[in-house]
Amino acid sequence: MTAARIGERLASFARITLGHFPTPLEYMENLSRELDGPQIWIKRDDCTGLASGGNKTRKLEFVLGEAIAGGADTILTTGGIQSNHARQTAAACARLGLRCILMLAPPPDWASSAYKNSGNICLDRLFGAEIHILPEGQSPEQALESLASDVARTGGIPFIVPLGASTPVGALGYVNCALELATQAKDLDLKVTRIVSAAGSGGTQAGLMAGIAALNKDIVCEGIDIDAARERTEQRTKSLLAGVMPLIGETAAALPTVTMRDDFAGPAYGATTPAAQESIRQVALSEGIVLDSAYTGKAMSALISGIQEGRYQKDEVIVFLHSGGFPLTFAYA
Ligand SMILES: *Cc1c(COP(=O)(O)O)cnc(C)c1O
Repeated sequence: MTAARIGERLASFARITLGHFPTPLEYMENLSRELDGPQIWIKRDDCTGLASGGNKTRKLEFVLGEAIAGGADTILTTGGIQSNHARQTAAACARLGLRCILMLAPPPDWASSAYKNSGNICLDRLFGAEIHILPEGQSPEQALESLASDVARTGGIPFIVPLGASTPVGALGYVNCALELATQAKDLDLKVTRIVSAAGSGGTQAGLMAGIAALNKDIVCEGIDIDAARERTEQRTKSLLAGVMPLIGETAAALPTVTMRDDFAGPAYGATTPAAQESIRQVALSEGIVLDSAYTGKAMSALISGIQEGRYQKDEVIVFLHSGGFPLTFAYA
């Protein structure tokens, strides 16, 4: 399918503008030299512009577009206490004049005072979100359903945004990112061979894969599981991929294979790893770019160790998706 045709498909969905696009595609000149492997480029989705940026902005443009088109006035969503998704949703709701209700998982045992109070949670409060902590024994889905009925009973029109805004419609945001990237690569005369990104709720990788498949490009989209649950992350991605492909007019029969790597998440979601910390330091010192402990630091540790172990050919051109997470810097301080 041509990029123009995919663009037309995307334009048929309700969408609201929340971010600054296209985000820059930059060469990591110093890091590439230090590692002496393939060229590493970085797609700066940490610069989407909404409340310090991140990958949820692209997905929320479509998901909140859908919510508003359906007449919703109250958005409910879920995530961890340091959820980047919750923060970007809260900021978007503030901007759009929507009531925002967050159901956040309680902090893990190892959480410091900064993790409980700074970073994203501090911004959620600033944006006026109503914050609830998930009661023990309840699933986030149940808790959101019950809050949504309360909203409806008192005359509001609720809309539940699932974890990470990862619905097939949300994944359209990353189909759009794939188009954007293809245009940038063409302008720079770059033959991208691989995209490496952190994977959690799966919508980012599913959208990228769908976009790349629709464009008929031979680019591997490599997801790095950051949830310490590779099979679940892979399953989420597969099911979103099957959901998003038909939305852009691609038959569900020709689903590309999901590449999901484990071994980089550490013991649990949010628990950082020595390799992630080392990668964060290396990228900060070589490029002046901030990665985070829960997502992009882990994904970068996979990329760096892959280069060191000779997993990637030297003539590859790899794009690392910087998916955001800047406020986490302060939650892990
Ligand atoms: C949510 C998030 C991801 C994971 O994206 P999914 O679409 O949920 O797989 C990666 N990086 C950052 C910084 C995030 O906040």
